[in-house]
Amino acid sequence: MPSTFEYTWDTPVYKGKTSFSTGLFIGGKFVDGSNGTTIDVINPATGKVITKIAEGTPKDVDLAVAAAHKAFETSWGLKCPGSERGRLLSKLADLMEEHNDEYAALEALDNGKTFNWAKNADLGLSIGTIRYYAGWADKVHGSTIETGEDKLNYTRHEPIGVVGQIIPWNFPLMMLAWKIGPALATGNAIVLKPSEFTPLTALLTAKLIQEAGFPPGVVNIVNGYGSTVGQAISEHMAIEKVAFTGSTLVGRKVMEASAKSNLKKVTLELGGKSPSIVFDDADLNVAVNWAAHGIYFNHGQTCCAGSRIFVHEKIYDAFLEKFTAKSKSLKVGDPFATDSFQGPQVSEIQFNRVMGYIESGKQEGATLHLGGHRIGNEGYYISPTIFTDTKPDMRIVREEIFGPVGVVIKFKDDDDIIHQANDTVYGLAAAVFTTNVNRAIKTAHALHAGTVWVNCSNTLYANVPFGGYKQSGIGRELGEYALDNYTAVKAIQINLT
Ligand code: NDP
Repeated sequence: MPSTFEYTWDTPVYKGKTSFSTGLFIGGKFVDGSNGTTIDVINPATGKVITKIAEGTPKDVDLAVAAAHKAFETSWGLKCPGSERGRLLSKLADLMEEHNDEYAALEALDNGKTFNWAKNADLGLSIGTIRYYAGWADKVHGSTIETGEDKLNYTRHEPIGVVGQIIPWNFPLMMLAWKIGPALATGNAIVLKPSEFTPLTALLTAKLIQEAGFPPGVVNIVNGYGSTVGQAISEHMAIEKVAFTGSTLVGRKVMEASAKSNLKKVTLELGGKSPSIVFDDADLNVAVNWAAHGIYFNHGQTCCAGSRIFVHEKIYDAFLEKFTAKSKSLKVGDPFATDSFQGPQVSEIQFNRVMGYIESGKQEGATLHLGGHRIGNEGYYISPTIFTDTKPDMRIVREEIFGPVGVVIKFKDDDDIIHQANDTVYGLAAAVFTTNVNRAIKTAHALHAGTVWVNCSNTLYANVPFGGYKQSGIGRELGEYALDNYTAVKAIQINLT
């Protein structure tokens, strides 16, 4: 019998409590893992254990897949009208809204993001995404296609079946919502693995899924390690599609496992090294504020983080001065303090990885212009960091750091900046700062990126597609586009003669 996690907050920004099971959620019930083992969940602000959760195994993935298949064949998929799926998704969104602040507090505790940002950014988009796809559930349909009087041709957009979803730790609830929203709206049954670094909001959601009245087995949540549970999902012969968000390295493994097993459909949302381009006609304050948001939002642990900041030489000095002042003004500290902008990095591993990149920047000869050090003796806090005088082949310029570390690079002309911005294996996002609309449009069209922001950065909407060019991924999440990931198109042809 899995234990119950109970926690009470009495902080300046939130007073309240939570309570939910730490088990695996399989077939509508919370259960222990088949090995009876657990995983420690760590608070990144202190490095101390918050609780233990059940550890899933490949055997548990089999059980979850069996439960999902049963649900798909009997009470979900084509057996459940879209209007009913939409009703259940709406109900889930309502319940999530009722638990809004409790969710934000859990994200702050488990991931280290600040309560205020979790509440204002993560929760709004997570609940908004579930609601958005609730609206789609009864609007997914095919078409009739004119081929002459002797035949009737039409298409159906059918659910794929049982789908696997593997999500990371940087936006634990939001990534869950982006994945389950379109999959449930289109009638698929799910086996989802959260990151074992941040499993808590997924477990609260499992409780609310139960409460909303989804048929048992429609959503199964199997916490566990990537190399066991993640791998078992990727290579499962009875899972027809897998959606993954995380590193490019693991994205390749997921694709390989799919190719070696049943050629399940794969969508990948991977990393980035996104450029922010500040032209000489930019409104400097707008550019500074958004470029700072671009790199420092969520402690730099954002796949679309604007980590390469290119600034025209005419305004470079003025930009750097203001950008430095802005970076210094961002308060790093307790996720539950009223004035914290940035909390700790998510884990000791990530802390060490980011500090390793800072060290490599120094060793490769870049100038450490600001920060670059740990803050405090407890927890995984890193100061906002700026490098200048970089060279294009340095690791800090080429690789995804996933921390509050930006490189500020001087450029001369418009053609060259497009080349520099596109000179990366990634293509997730880009930001352009200019007051010239023609320049904005021309640059946006020339950039190889799935999203281009003009005079803003890191803003996302449930109805606007998101995804990567090049090695930043395959497929699009959010918006109408995500529905395609979860439907199989069947053409039906009837001979009328
Ligand atoms: P991973 O890509 O390892 O983790 C993402 C998810 O994949 C987790 O749930 C993880 O589980 C799982 N996973 C790990 N190995 C496998 C596998 N063999 N098969 C299936 N699933 C697997 O990211 P990390 O946590 O290691 O972070 C490393 C780097 O990845 C970061 O520094 C950052 O650059 C990038 N990253 C990018 C993200 C994005 O949004 N694009 C999100 C997170 C990270 P487990 O936690 O057990 O490893």
